[in-house]
Amino acid sequence: MARIAILPGSFDPVTVGHLDIVKRSTSLFDKIIIGLGINSMKQTMFTTEQRMKWLQTTFKEFPNVEVKAYEGLTVNFCKQEQAKYILRGLRTSTDFQFEKAIAQMNQLLEAEIETVFILSLPQYAPVSSTIVRDIIRHGGDVKQFLPNGVTP
Ligand code: ADP
Repeated sequence: MARIAILPGSFDPVTVGHLDIVKRSTSLFDKIIIGLGINSMKQTMFTTEQRMKWLQTTFKEFPNVEVKAYEGLTVNFCKQEQAKYILRGLRTSTDFQFEKAIAQMNQLLEAEIETVFILSLPQYAPVSSTIVRDIIRHGGDVKQFLPNGVTP
């Protein structure tokens, strides 16, 4: 059976950190689906369409990576896509504490779906969409933090 993983996130916007996690995970899975989570309660800087477009541009050269938007629980999206793995990146111990709770809750919801963590490379550990948005708001240059073709 094909090993399918979903990397869920808001990708507001996608960064070189996300790109690195996907690059380093492609050999582990037959297919990776980048799941753009649509959460109407969450205020985003960029529209769903824009975030989707940037994800498509970023991953267009990756033969076993797809980009899809979804609403609702990640475990339900996994079942819909027959994905047995949730892929997440870890930068810091704070990420770990937060991710641990989500992964354990997802495990209780769907015992057969495993969360797989990939540690960020040191050079990407400080890169976050939140800080990128702050820099953009204040007129700074974020080019080095974003994949080619992502130009806010
Ligand atoms: P969310 O909205 O769920 O926080 P994000 O879009 O910010 O999701 O990130 C999606 C995934 O990518 C998360 O697992 C997050 O920890 C990971 N990630 C984000 N930035 C980096 C980075 N610089 N290095 C490694 N992983 C990262």
